[in-house]
Amino acid sequence: MMILPRIRALLWIFPVLIVAAGCATDKAVIAQANDAHKELSPAVVRDPVLDGYVQQLGDRIVRTAREMDQQGYGPKSHKSEDSEWMFKDIQFHLVNSPTLNAFTTGGQHIYLYSELLLSCKTEDEFAAVVAHEFGHIYARHVQKGMDRQYAILGGAALAAVGGAAIAGQENWQTGAGVGAGVGLAAGQFLGMGFTRNDEDEADRVGFVFYTRSGWDPGKFDGFFRTMIEKGHDKTPEAISDHPKLATRVANTERRIKELPPSASQWRRPNTAGPQRFAELQSRAKAYQKKVPKDKSLEAAQLMLAAFPSCVAPTDLPEQKSAQKKVVDAINRQKAKQ
Ligand SMILES: [Zn+2]
Repeated sequence: MMILPRIRALLWIFPVLIVAAGCATDKAVIAQANDAHKELSPAVVRDPVLDGYVQQLGDRIVRTAREMDQQGYGPKSHKSEDSEWMFKDIQFHLVNSPTLNAFTTGGQHIYLYSELLLSCKTEDEFAAVVAHEFGHIYARHVQKGMDRQYAILGGAALAAVGGAAIAGQENWQTGAGVGAGVGLAAGQFLGMGFTRNDEDEADRVGFVFYTRSGWDPGKFDGFFRTMIEKGHDKTPEAISDHPKLATRVANTERRIKELPPSASQWRRPNTAGPQRFAELQSRAKAYQKKVPKDKSLEAAQLMLAAFPSCVAPTDLPEQKSAQKKVVDAINRQKAKQ
């Protein structure tokens, strides 16, 4: 992903904001994720049945994670600060977006795209992606690393830009004002292309939470296999920030073999069985159709489309084009200064 060099080139806009190197604090990341959420919230599905379902499924993962935390489980980055906040008030949002992805801004928000829900064959596939996302939070991948610290702080440099991208060049003035919050989300997406190691670690940690929460270990890689079938595994690993899907499948197979014999006792029924899951998918599809399209939804969907992929080894064409829209707006702003 060529995002980091781009944002480095842009940081001169607000150089004063680059104040520290090293890890961002939990507090800073949580606050920025909350700010970003204000701009993304128009895309959140407001349906008690669907909301209730994704939150229930997510809470199941969080409960397991808390137990594992109490047993001292987790990478070093998990133990760097008090983790209590990770186990309360984590919000799992189903978002109305035609992009195939899931994402977390690193604080207490996880975004599960409607297209992902519709693309999963069973709840197991969906739960695996949700567990992976929570793995990013658990291992503090957004907080970690100097590059990302720069990028997150650089988010403010983009504050005006998101709005401009949405409003279009001719409405630059209005757009820049509107974008004060939206741009923060843009800055975050530019900063949050997780590394290959982060992705692998999120799979590893996510697999533990998923299996210990009672889902079928053999189905953890089901969604990766679906993505391979759809032709999403063509980029050589060496030039991608993400592990190849085939590698993620192989790693899952290895992790299944390494499970202790007692793992069979962890199994519990899915939150939604096959029929219920299909009903929820239909409900999500119907919801998408009845939501009125307006500017705020369009803006939120552009941001969601621009977040780097957490499910494919490289960003999809529509993700690249959304990122380009934002970057073009930045360049226009530079030209005006
Ligand atoms: Zn990921």
